Amino acid sequence: MSPDNLQTEASVIQRIPFALLAILAACGDRAPDGTTAAAPAAPAPDYHLIEGTLFRSDGPNGNTYIYDAPDGLVVIDTGRHPEHAQLILDHARERGQPIAAIVNTHWHLDHTTGNLDLRAEFPEAAVYATPASREARDGRLSLSRLRAQERLDGGDLDDATRARLERASTLIGGEALIPTVEVTGTMTLPVTGRDLELNTTDHAVSASDIWIWDAATRTVIAGDLVVVPAPLFDSACPARWSEALAAIDQKPFERLAPGHGPAMTKAEFGVYRDAFDRLVSCAAERTGEECARGWLEDAAPLLRDERDRDYARDAVTAYVDVIIKDEELQATYCGTPG
Ligand SMILES: [Zn+2]
Repeated sequence: MSPDNLQTEASVIQRIPFALLAILAACGDRAPDGTTAAAPAAPAPDYHLIEGTLFRSDGPNGNTYIYDAPDGLVVIDTGRHPEHAQLILDHARERGQPIAAIVNTHWHLDHTTGNLDLRAEFPEAAVYATPASREARDGRLSLSRLRAQERLDGGDLDDATRARLERASTLIGGEALIPTVEVTGTMTLPVTGRDLELNTTDHAVSASDIWIWDAATRTVIAGDLVVVPAPLFDSACPARWSEALAAIDQKPFERLAPGHGPAMTKAEFGVYRDAFDRLVSCAAERTGEECARGWLEDAAPLLRDERDRDYARDAVTAYVDVIIKDEELQATYCGTPG
């Protein structure tokens, strides 16, 4: 799991991954076309989706959404693996359009590593992200990079692992993660025929995330504020995350495009939001295992199959016990260090 780290290298995440890495080792990749259903009725999405993956032993890819814009394409999140980034570049080539802008909803590497490939081919592309991207690169991710370097120096790695560590290390050591346009509050980003509204959170999935409101098609692009089969708390402040979900709920959307998983209707988002809030309340007084049982019940309409349920059970159990109940970590992730 740990969508934000270099697999097992991040300092904090080393405390969580026993269960989660075991799950991921046991899971193969999920077919990109997956078993996803639940296509909402209307309206047309008006973006091109490159579907991410969550069930990968070598780290997930977030979903990518691509919009046409007057000066080229706007790419929302860029995935982790080279083949995901290649699909984005292939799409640009097919359209005969440059990539004019990248929006990173948050700094986790499954949403940002593809910045490397896109910016190599389109160095002029603007990068819209919150200041949390730079802070993560200079802080937590730089520690991960040191650990990655130790492993690389130590040798004895298979080629795939070596390539993966080197790729993440290159991202963190360079400028591709750094916003050229810092998003610190609500702003607009023009796409063809209209503006997208970029909104920020004050701590939620990360120290600050971006979510997008496309009023013309009544669509929200939620980043990892919405993830099925379960929210990922690697760097999260649950209470502020809950506030962000309430803010999203204010929008009259008909379709919500999540960071991982298929699009949702507003009613499905309502199920997710209620399940999320109950999970946060549960974590204050019960064990991870109990809260996982609650999540499986509350989020049942969103869980597609046994693999979703297994993943959700193990993920929620570990996140509650290891991250949400850890007061020191929570103070850090909620921006209230004592
Ligand atoms: Zn993610």
